[in-house]
Amino acid sequence: MKTSKLAEGLKGSEIIKIAGEVNALKAKGETVYNQTIGDFDSSVFPIPKALKREIVEAYENDQTNYPTANGMEELRETVSSYLANRLGLRYTKDEILISGGARPLIYALYQTVLDLEDTVLYPVPSWNNDAYTYLARNKAVVVETKAKNKFMPTVEDIEPHVQDIALLALCSPLNPTGTTFDKETLLEISNLVITENERRKKEGQKPLYVLYDQIYWQLTYGETAHYNPVELNPDIREYTIFIDGISKAFASTGVRVGWAFGPSHVINKMKALLSHIGAWAPKAEQMAVASYLSQTETVSQYLGYIKQELHYRLKKFYDGFQDLKSQGFAVHAIEPEAALYLTVQFDLIGKTTVDGEQLNSIEEVTSYLLNEAKLAVVPFYAFGASRTSNWFRLSVGTSKKEEIDTIFDLLKKALENLS
Ligand code: PLP
Repeated sequence: MKTSKLAEGLKGSEIIKIAGEVNALKAKGETVYNQTIGDFDSSVFPIPKALKREIVEAYENDQTNYPTANGMEELRETVSSYLANRLGLRYTKDEILISGGARPLIYALYQTVLDLEDTVLYPVPSWNNDAYTYLARNKAVVVETKAKNKFMPTVEDIEPHVQDIALLALCSPLNPTGTTFDKETLLEISNLVITENERRKKEGQKPLYVLYDQIYWQLTYGETAHYNPVELNPDIREYTIFIDGISKAFASTGVRVGWAFGPSHVINKMKALLSHIGAWAPKAEQMAVASYLSQTETVSQYLGYIKQELHYRLKKFYDGFQDLKSQGFAVHAIEPEAALYLTVQFDLIGKTTVDGEQLNSIEEVTSYLLNEAKLAVVPFYAFGASRTSNWFRLSVGTSKKEEIDTIFDLLKKALENLS
């Protein structure tokens, strides 16, 4: 029986399709190294102990009725100080909106700033912009980024389209690549938006808004620094809406607390929209996160710990791929800068397996790696890149340190078996 055209047209996640193949192998009793998930294994990365205690306490204190529509004042105040102390960004509690994770906020932002048929520009590979564009019934300019730019968009990618778009969706650190904007690139893009908006202002047009998703900003490694458009050129502030939250930096994807911040005229409309959907973070979790994030030392210690653990894994995988590359195998990786992700290339199309079968597509390469090396990774086409892109996302949120050597042993054998 038919449902709405919108519902009928919704596409399932490509990652879930790969999960189907992974589960089929597991059902046969095989061990699979499933590095496909942009989440944590909570037995490896549980939520911070102090946060867990605060959540339990909040329920003990019966914090169980409706939260305020824009989020509990305690949490908005804490987030305001957190942003000031850790990023130097000054946003008042009235410019901050709390929700049940980052997703409802992104959805609400699209609905708030875009009219039907307006155009969004987003780079690919990137996470879920195609779904939000579809849900808001908008058009998209999709810019495919390049390996030489660490898969981050440049001002040259955006400039030809700047007059035609109503929203520019940016993300740094980026899912799926684990790479970040460098300062110059982000400044050039910010200046382009500001110049375009000066033109629109004169003509009385709706401005070009910027979605800046920085949900991974606290997970940067080594020399990598996180930048945001507002610190680089404050004139972009009135057009920029940040997306942020606890899901990734605190391994708390299931706790569901996120926030957006930006100009209050946009934030207030997003609040109005979300209050009908009721996508609030539970009150108890909000009170707990407010209390937890105020514990500066405890939070810094936890961040130090999780960054070290994630970076160790990313570096070990990266070194493993460098090693295989130096032995002449057709693999490559981009040095990890942030988040849970490593960008890996498997240049295997055209190779022949021991059974005499040729690998003719990225789907076949993905299946080969899964069946022969027991390694599950996500091809960039699942993030909107072209079907021929031979780059993949390897996530370490579920990775056990002691398994990584075994993974490389299996991978090496699988690569040796190709000619
Ligand atoms: N933004 C990015 C870039 C993500 O990768 C994800 C999740 O994978 C989200 C937002 C969603 O965050 P949340 O779980 O808080 O809804």
